[in-house]
Amino acid sequence: GPAAASTGTRVVRAPRGSERTAKSWGAEAAKRMLMNNLDPEVAEHPEDLVVYGGTGRAARNWAAFDAIVRTLDELEPDETLLVQSGKPVGVFRTHEWAPRVLIANSNLVGDWATWPEFRKLEELGLTMYGQMTAGSWIYIGTQGILQGTYETFAAVARSLGREDLAGTLTLTGGAGGMGGAQPLAVTLNGGAVLIVDVDESRLARRVEHGYLDEYTTDLEAALARVTAAKDAGEALSVGVVGNAAEVFGDVLLRHRAGELTVDIVTDQTSAHDPLAYLPVGVAFEDWKAEASRDPEGFTARARGSMAKHVAAMVGFQDAGAEVFDYGNSIRAEAQLGGFERAFAFPGFVPAYIRPQFAEGRGPFRWVALSGDPEDIRKTDQAVKALFRDNAGLVRWLDKAGDAVHFEGLPARICWLGYQERHLAGLKFNEMVASGELSGPIVIGRDHLDAGSVASPYRETEAMADGSDAIADWPLLNALLNTASGAAWVSIHHGGGVGIGRSIHAGQVTVADGTPLAAEKLERVLTNDPGTGVMRHVDAGYDRAKEVARERGLQVPMLDA
Ligand code: NAD
Repeated sequence: GPAAASTGTRVVRAPRGSERTAKSWGAEAAKRMLMNNLDPEVAEHPEDLVVYGGTGRAARNWAAFDAIVRTLDELEPDETLLVQSGKPVGVFRTHEWAPRVLIANSNLVGDWATWPEFRKLEELGLTMYGQMTAGSWIYIGTQGILQGTYETFAAVARSLGREDLAGTLTLTGGAGGMGGAQPLAVTLNGGAVLIVDVDESRLARRVEHGYLDEYTTDLEAALARVTAAKDAGEALSVGVVGNAAEVFGDVLLRHRAGELTVDIVTDQTSAHDPLAYLPVGVAFEDWKAEASRDPEGFTARARGSMAKHVAAMVGFQDAGAEVFDYGNSIRAEAQLGGFERAFAFPGFVPAYIRPQFAEGRGPFRWVALSGDPEDIRKTDQAVKALFRDNAGLVRWLDKAGDAVHFEGLPARICWLGYQERHLAGLKFNEMVASGELSGPIVIGRDHLDAGSVASPYRETEAMADGSDAIADWPLLNALLNTASGAAWVSIHHGGGVGIGRSIHAGQVTVADGTPLAAEKLERVLTNDPGTGVMRHVDAGYDRAKEVARERGLQVPMLDA
């Protein structure tokens, strides 16, 4: 594209191996992870420093990138680099326990926290959009999406009182960049799934990349395939080309007539942006032209179709299916389209994820700085041995070992909770110290975690005490991680759901095999998920209170 032409063909890839050029592993790890985020295997548009999620960037511009890399190589083990929205702005003398890098991305004062204001300031070169893990240098490619989706469907199975999804049929829409993880996430959980997309090329791409088993343009044939798989208790994913607003209604009629039973219904069409949702009655070929010819008219038609789409979803719920919103704002858009019962079904966080957040469980991830996939294989074994009683976790690690193709530095993700994560961190540190692993391990997480985000349309939707928009929690999380020995800590605004709608924090630690690293790992990886339990205790969740009591988390007003 034109952007690639303007910046040339610069290719960034992290150095591999156990030799460092920086003066500490904290600084070396930050440098390698920044570079890894921009690896062409990892980033969506590396030439523009865009990692993922719209315009989520790793650094403000190439000059800032070069200055960050140079500064990290020169940084003393008792110094800290400050990064303001992707630009290195200062180096200060701190101490060995302090983070090597402190990052603040995309933050704006409340009344100014709008997309137009943000874009104006971005245009002036004063800020950048950091998303969640783009600007905090701990994105690991599509494995993160797949695992989160897998974990959600595993939680759906549990909420249905099942061990897995074998014998169930899921209906969903949207096989795009993120939605395309749904079919594989369902089959990894043992279920059958029908996924609807208007764009045949998306379904073909998912088949090519191993995320979807097969697709067809014939709904009848697709339904025959998935119902047979459901009846046989087999895992199978089938795509069908069609408009979800129509297909969902059609399948609902058959469900009501007793021709088939759909157990689970959700959707990941790009409903958050009405111009990216194809209304019924607009031909696929005319989509772009129609949307740009009359954006307002198109928006009204898209919302009208979303109203039908969501009405069918509510119909499935009324007919006994498990139905949830998968974070694409389709309920709000359908309501704007005139369907009043749009919020009859819940969002995925309150429905399935919050009970996990109450235990401090969230997306723990790690990366082998050696670049050796064998190091990840060994850590997979170690984590399975540590948590062998957790069947879902063991199943995920086995399946990920087979199904996940590494992008950039080899990495792994799995959900662990309070009083669990530090055990993995300490084990990895021992394995580095003993030479069993061929280089240090970087340990981080998504900002979508138990104690690190305030986001009223997603992670903190419908909190029990109404505290959805309280953003003190992620700030306390970042401060505590800084005080506990993290290698880098970040505070962002707007990730996931857009400017004005979230505040969130990230932390990364490094297992370099030293005793000091062990002390830091133990504190950070205990305290960080501990803030998730604390936040949910404060909001009144009983499970969080139990966890705090059982696992010894000190909350001064626990019994108040
Ligand atoms: P995308 O734009 O890559 O894909 C969207 C897909 O929807 C496209 O393939 C498009 O052809 C299809 N589509 C549009 N209108 C349709 C219609 N009427 N019927 C059938 N298919 C239609 O987007 P993505 O990255 O896959 O994300 C999808 C949505 O899910 C977004 O709204 C995103 O914000 C949301 N999302 C939420 C979470 C979360 O909350 N955890 C995670 C991932 C994605």
